[in-house]
Amino acid sequence: MRLDKFVCKSTRLTRAQATAMINTGCVVVNDAVVCDVATQVHEDNYITLNNEKLIARASRYILMHKPAGTICSNIDEVYPSLFNYIDVDNVSELHVAGRLDADTTGLVLVTDDGRWSFNIITPTKHCQKVYRVGLSRTIGDDVANQFSHGVQLQGEQQLTRPAILEIVAEKEVLLTLTEGKFHQVKRMFSAVDNRVVSLHREKIGEIQLDVEVGEWRYLTEPEVNSFS
Ligand code: URA
Repeated sequence: MRLDKFVCKSTRLTRAQATAMINTGCVVVNDAVVCDVATQVHEDNYITLNNEKLIARASRYILMHKPAGTICSNIDEVYPSLFNYIDVDNVSELHVAGRLDADTTGLVLVTDDGRWSFNIITPTKHCQKVYRVGLSRTIGDDVANQFSHGVQLQGEQQLTRPAILEIVAEKEVLLTLTEGKFHQVKRMFSAVDNRVVSLHREKIGEIQLDVEVGEWRYLTEPEVNSFS
């Protein structure tokens, strides 16, 4: 990871404070003063700040039940940020691995480990996300077939990746996706002349939502490792 990130991770310094420390020669990596914040370092390197050894804090992995009317960015905008619900130190270092719209509810995974979230988000990793979708109109007979072959979304060059549609009731389905284009579920149903009226994410990979709305818990080690 970058040296400035390592310094933030192992201290309570902000990115700007860590940059200032590094630029002024306070940080030593394996006996050499390093002033370039972008230098790549490893947790095994011997790194000191003002002669004190730095030890990176462990990464954090959190499961949360996102309420409606919250957003997945770190700062409040029109709607409050869901990070208001997560009462941990240095919350600004966390991000959501696969954001949901403000009106969507359900499972979000939150972490400060960018490599781990890459495994969840990147389509070529084939991580399945399951959405329970309420629709304004009865689902057509051929939609499952269309979704399994991919549909053309406005403004996109490629068809959507194969998706699995399971019909639960006339106007309720489960949709399994391995990608997350902007407003993807809403746009897929719009492409087949339907409209999403409720959207809830139930599952990511093998992880099922198991806490109440607005609550969160740390993932277990096997759960974390299931995305490696
Ligand atoms: N697809 C959408 O349209 N919205 C979401 O929040 C998630 C997937």
